[in-house]
Amino acid sequence: MNFKFFMEVLFPRRCLRCRNTLTNGVVCDQCLVAVTIHDSLFCGKCKARLPSARKICHNDFPYILGAAGSYGDKTIQTLIHHLKFRGIRDAAEPLAEIIVRYLSKLEIDLTHYYIVPIPLSQKRRRERGFNQSERIGAIVAKQLAIPIETTCLIRARHTAAQSTTKSASERRKNVNNCFAVINNSLHGKNIILVDDVTTSGATLLEAARTLKQAGVQKIIAVTAAMT
Ligand SMILES: [Zn+2]
Ligand SMILES: [Zn+2]
Repeated sequence: MNFKFFMEVLFPRRCLRCRNTLTNGVVCDQCLVAVTIHDSLFCGKCKARLPSARKICHNDFPYILGAAGSYGDKTIQTLIHHLKFRGIRDAAEPLAEIIVRYLSKLEIDLTHYYIVPIPLSQKRRRERGFNQSERIGAIVAKQLAIPIETTCLIRARHTAAQSTTKSASERRKNVNNCFAVINNSLHGKNIILVDDVTTSGATLLEAARTLKQAGVQKIIAVTAAMT
């Protein structure tokens, strides 16, 4: 009996959500299928549903929001929590799958888009060991055959975790000027900005602003969930 088999008998893999035993992955098919996936894009500013991708209520806002699900969904919440705070890298896969299902449902033409994950500071990346948005973005890029660009947008400075800030204005201040664009590879391009979850939208807004200043065309900010 090999060690791996022995460990699996002793400690069977279990669904992070319902604790059913699993043969692979981190969440069972039943839990994943039960996730409610949104069927529209949202205004980045006021979060109003945008029934048609063209109809934008706040025209001057730098991005349209594409939130696949709600953070109130326990499966999504569990996955994000394990990915970010418990080092379960494989939790990126079902989250990417949720985003892929969502984008497929929207039927928008993503042919000329590039995926750009929200970067982490070097300090945060070292602490976590990986960038969760990049892991999600890489799987989405592969599944949808969209190129991914990870060298252009960087974190110019380390910021406190947004979850440690209290008000919306504090969140905006915390991320002010925290991003920089260091080459022109996205100039004139349309991009899908990927993050795991959006709360106040301050991080996405700051990144989108920086990208727009660097000549990026359209930006759809895609997250697995919004609060
Ligand atoms: Zn389950
Ligand atoms: Zn709006």
